[in-house]
Amino acid sequence: MATNRTFTMIKPDAVQENHIGGILGMIEAGGFRIVELQKINLTAERAGQFYAVHAERPFYNDLVKYMSSGAIVAAVLEKDNAVADFRTLIGATNPANAEDGTIRKKYAKSIEANAVHGSDSDENAQIEADFFFGSK
Ligand code: ADP
Ligand code: MG
Repeated sequence: MATNRTFTMIKPDAVQENHIGGILGMIEAGGFRIVELQKINLTAERAGQFYAVHAERPFYNDLVKYMSSGAIVAAVLEKDNAVADFRTLIGATNPANAEDGTIRKKYAKSIEANAVHGSDSDENAQIEADFFFGSK
């Protein structure tokens, strides 16, 4: 995968509350092209695998339960400087610290139920995209 791609998920709370369209709209308005898109339910096992890097964190078990509590939307996004620009568009992990105009400021409910995922590096963007869509 080229370095101008990132991976995102719309998390269960945002899907449940009918914010798929609103969030995809902000993503497209932010200059990202949606190159892969899938609505899917994660089992607890798959959610645990996705977040395995956080396995030792105190919030891990709750995070796995939350991420397998309902449908998510997985997507691969393309834009110059995609990883960093998407982290800017989503805002801080804790919505209390997210800037105005960010997806999390608008849609996140809590530090856990924070509406969206965004990859933190080009390497992880590829790993995470492959987790859902396989190698292309
Ligand atoms: P980000 O999603 O901004 O990259 P992290 O990688 O640190 O944040 O954490 C992964 C996810 O775990 C967060 O998006 C959030 O859903 C959850 N999370 C992070 N920190 C906490 C916390 N202190 N309490 C509960 N959930 C958390
Ligand atoms: Mg992260």
